[in-house]
Amino acid sequence: MSIHCSIYKNDLSILLIPAKIPLMHTSGSLKIVHAPDPRLRVQTKPVKKITLALLQALKDMIKLTKTFKDPEGVGLAATQVGLKERFFVARLHDSKKIPPSNPSQRASRWANYDKEFMAVINPNILSFSKNTKVYFEGCLSIPNIWGKVRRHLSIKVSFQDEEGNLIKKTLIGIPAWIFQHEVNHLDGILFSEKVLAQKGQFYKFTGKDKAGTDTFEEITI
Ligand SMILES: [Zn+2]
Repeated sequence: MSIHCSIYKNDLSILLIPAKIPLMHTSGSLKIVHAPDPRLRVQTKPVKKITLALLQALKDMIKLTKTFKDPEGVGLAATQVGLKERFFVARLHDSKKIPPSNPSQRASRWANYDKEFMAVINPNILSFSKNTKVYFEGCLSIPNIWGKVRRHLSIKVSFQDEEGNLIKKTLIGIPAWIFQHEVNHLDGILFSEKVLAQKGQFYKFTGKDKAGTDTFEEITI
C-alpha cells in the first residue's frame, strides 16, 4: 500500500512533517530545525577558531541529541540547530557494525551500539570505498520519514576534535554511514534528496505493533 505526497517543485526536501512537532527536544538555546526550513540548506563555513561559544554549542548539541530516545539520536549537525559552521556531534566510536538495510533490521542493528558522542569539527572525507550498500535511514530534522540510501561502506576521514587536534581515521559500517549523513548536512543536503536522486524507497513510520516493534509503510513521493 502506498500514499502519495507532494513536494515543492524547487525543493526536494520532503514535506511530510506532522502538524504537531514535539517541543520537548531543546538544550540551552538550541532547538531542532525541521525540513523544509531553509536553515537546513546552508552551505556551512569552516570553523576558524575553537571558541567557548563553539564548545558550549557542541555540549548542548550532544545533550539535545540524547533527548531523542525512540528513535535514538545518533548524530546532529550544526545546520540542524540553525548554526552555520562545519561541525557536528555523533556516535562514531570504533564499531564496525553494519547498518540496517531495511525496516526489519533497524532495531537489531542499533542494539548495543556505542552511546558515546564525539565532537567533529571541520570534517573532510578524504576517500570513499568502492563498496557501497543501501541503508535504511532517517533524520531528526525529518521526523517519521525514512528512506533507503546507497552510501559508501567505508571512508577515510579527517577532522579536528574539540581541542583542535587533527584526527585521521578510517570508518567502517555504522560510523562511516553517520559521518556521510552529517557531512551532507553541512553541505545543505538532506538524506531525502539522496533517496529521490537514487530513486530509492521512502517509508513512513506508522506506529508500533503489539510486540512494541516499529512499523513502517512504503510511501511514494
Ligand atoms: Zn540528519
